[in-house]
Amino acid sequence: MPDRADRMPVRVAVLGSTGSIGTQALDVIRGHRDHYEVVALATGRNAELLTQQAAEFGVDPECARLCGDTIAGVDGPAVLAELAAHPDVDVVLNAVVGFAGLPVTLSALEHGKRLALANKESLIAGGPVVAEVRARGNGEIVPVDSEHSAIYQCLRAGDASEVHRIVLTASGGPFRGRTKDELALVTVADALKHPTWDMGAKITIDSSTLMNKGLEVIEARELFGVGFDAIDVVVHPQSIVHSMVEFHDGATIAQLSMPDMRLPIGLALGAPARLPQPFGAMDWAATGTLTFEPPDLEAFPCLALAYEAGRAGGDAPAILSGANEVAVAAFLEERIPWQAIAQVAAESLEQGVGNVTEVADVLEADRVARERAHAVVARIAARPSGRTNVGAQ
Ligand code: MG
Repeated sequence: MPDRADRMPVRVAVLGSTGSIGTQALDVIRGHRDHYEVVALATGRNAELLTQQAAEFGVDPECARLCGDTIAGVDGPAVLAELAAHPDVDVVLNAVVGFAGLPVTLSALEHGKRLALANKESLIAGGPVVAEVRARGNGEIVPVDSEHSAIYQCLRAGDASEVHRIVLTASGGPFRGRTKDELALVTVADALKHPTWDMGAKITIDSSTLMNKGLEVIEARELFGVGFDAIDVVVHPQSIVHSMVEFHDGATIAQLSMPDMRLPIGLALGAPARLPQPFGAMDWAATGTLTFEPPDLEAFPCLALAYEAGRAGGDAPAILSGANEVAVAAFLEERIPWQAIAQVAAESLEQGVGNVTEVADVLEADRVARERAHAVVARIAARPSGRTNVGAQ
């Protein structure tokens, strides 16, 4: 859709506008007001910031909406879907947190928009349904997730048929190098201290468990159509190499920049054009050593669980993602220990896999996942010690 990229200014809906990605997107747009116009804004609860943003960017109050906390919110999903389909919008940035982003993803693609996707959960849970909408509509997805943005950029170096494998990099999170035993007593405050990225709470906890990387493996499969055997993960603590593509001749193409989400956000809004502002440009004199190591699947079982769920297909990725959201929320409320996040996800996945062919199946999978996960959380939280024995089962 060249007309979309050519139109100036590009008209953008920032859905999830008060979170980490949303505010950084508005920061990008603030510096390029001749390139971009904000047409719609939405957030869950932060009315004060939403009102400020609407005033600053001149957004019609009708198109600056509060949607409640979850997909179960009264009219949240309908409002999000309506804003994503707005006839004056060219690019929809889906920066909603978690499964609640599903209506944005589906509606934007159905209505032929460019979807700048920061919400990986919608693509993971809704995999087959999103794929179908993508195939039939004239919408397109450009990833905002830094790893997938890197892959999107690296893929330009060769033909799709020449790709041997995708290598996703992981920072390793705050607990890199710790053993399973050492991880038994980590606290919420420990888990929220990400070494290289400043992000929202949900994704920061997901980074600490490597569930984020696991979900990104499934996201990569959905976005780029490569098999799970051709997606590898390597731990790279400096978060400078954002991911890599290895081609058949052995050449590996990597994308490097300082960890700054404004680079992938800017690229997703304007791709294939690059913004004339060097977010995250490298200072080689200060870079030092870049290191790479394999992930520790024993200490971080969520990564292996995600590969299993991805390979199982059907509603397994939706169950994994939904159960993980419940587990992360319970951990943040200090109801379960950190290691129980993996246990909740694993036990929720144990009970079988169904098919996903339509949106109702996705919603049902998410509902079942949450029901199962809440049951496991309640059982763990009721233990007198409050401690899990995830390794002993
Ligand atoms: Mg990422």
